[in-house]
Amino acid sequence: MLGLNTPQNTREHTQSYYAATANWQTDYPTLAANIEADVAIVGGGFTGVNTALELAERGYSVVLLEANRISWGATGRNGGQVIGGIGHSLEQFEKTIGKDGVRAIYDMGVECCDIIRERVAKYQIDCDLTWGYCDVALKPRHMREFEAEKAYQERMGYPHTLEMLDKQQLQSQVRSDLYLGGMLNRTGNGHCHVLNLCIGEARAAEQLGVRIFEHSRVTKVVQGDQPAVFTDQGSVRAKHLVLGGNAYLGNLVPKISAKVLPSNSSVITTEPLTDEQVAAIMPGNRAVCDPRTALDYFRLTGDKRLLFGGLSNYTGREPKDLFGVMRQKMLKVFPSLEDVKLEHGWSGQMGIGMNRMPQLGRLKGNVYYIQAYSGHGVAPTHMMGRITAQMIAGQAERFDVFAKIKHWSFPGGRMLRTPSFALGMLYYKLLDEL
Ligand SMILES: Cc1cc2nc3c(=O)[nH]c(=O)nc-3n(C[C@H](O)[C@H](O)[C@H](O)COP(=O)(O)OP(=O)(O)OC[C@H]3O[C@@H](n4cnc5c(N)ncnc54)[C@H](O)[C@@H]3O)c2cc1C
Repeated sequence: MLGLNTPQNTREHTQSYYAATANWQTDYPTLAANIEADVAIVGGGFTGVNTALELAERGYSVVLLEANRISWGATGRNGGQVIGGIGHSLEQFEKTIGKDGVRAIYDMGVECCDIIRERVAKYQIDCDLTWGYCDVALKPRHMREFEAEKAYQERMGYPHTLEMLDKQQLQSQVRSDLYLGGMLNRTGNGHCHVLNLCIGEARAAEQLGVRIFEHSRVTKVVQGDQPAVFTDQGSVRAKHLVLGGNAYLGNLVPKISAKVLPSNSSVITTEPLTDEQVAAIMPGNRAVCDPRTALDYFRLTGDKRLLFGGLSNYTGREPKDLFGVMRQKMLKVFPSLEDVKLEHGWSGQMGIGMNRMPQLGRLKGNVYYIQAYSGHGVAPTHMMGRITAQMIAGQAERFDVFAKIKHWSFPGGRMLRTPSFALGMLYYKLLDEL
């Protein structure tokens, strides 16, 4: 069993299953000069890398600065579930963005998965991409919610089929006594090795001319029409700047960090399972989530381990006994794994926003920010990268839909926003139990 790295204590990848099975280790240089570009991007997760790739595809000169390694943050630590949809309950924003705005965001929620599908094919990225996703119900009201969701998706013209499964039918996908049934999406959502996806996308961007720097933390940002960013050893002056540091950006730009709450979630992986063990728990090889606020999410990896995540908390702290607590959660779902060894365990931070809609906007001059996917960013990051690149290329329509949505700062400033929000989320966790 590998030890744990807290997110803060190393500039190398945390000791995750992803890092242990990466196709290669990125080794981009550290920025050590004063350079110029059309666009400078801060943050080498899915947001930054995909914005860079979209811009490079359009012929822009781009510099990408990552404080640690490409995919070091949430991108290289998550559950690997590729789930469409952007934001929640889109109709709540109708007053601000109109019916057309709601429709546009709905459509982007479908397109975001297609971007991954196309990108993996176009750049031949080896990342175990597998289609198939299942929501599972713990309570009768969850089944009613899935029915309502299915009806909504059908009304909106969702291009993939959703199937309701009763307890018996669910056995063909997920074998756990805990669940009453589920909703299966065989082709629209799925799962993949996220670190391999992101470093593959970074390589594609590099081959199109993007200059990537690792171990290059931005410590100062100058906003305006000619923005600039500074690291310990260099600087980039650009016509446009994109901030994609998300939950790890810290207080670099206080105005945007006040709107995002870094929240922690933890993941374990087992040793590779035998065919019999796989057949006994996950015969469908789908990505699986339950619908709670502090949900369990799990899937098989390409080498047939169970990857099991959960334990979200809004204090942003990693749990002390991560392996012990996560193991209990996993055994509650799959008691037959009692004797299976755990090989990796880690935590990561995701950016939560108050209304759970990704935050996309413009600061002074040509400075853009993208953050706060609220635990659901693998596919949406790809969309946000695309529309930010479109914005920079002069097509503002889709960017503007997002920029109109108001995002409140968390109350209590930097010191108090964590405890006050943790209390708020406790309320929702209690509702989950009803
Ligand atoms: C444990 C966990 C499980 C999750 N599971 C899922 C899932 O199954 N499906 C799903 O859709 N979503 C999931 N998410 C959410 C998803 O991972 C994120 O929404 C997504 O990866 C965000 O990507 P990002 O590029 O915006 O941020 P990050 O991946 O966090 O990248 C930000 C990067 O910016 C860098 N950075 C920060 N500050 C600076 C600076 N000053 N200078 C230079 N670089 C800087 C950081 O080092 C980091 O690499 C999960 C998140 C976590 C933490």
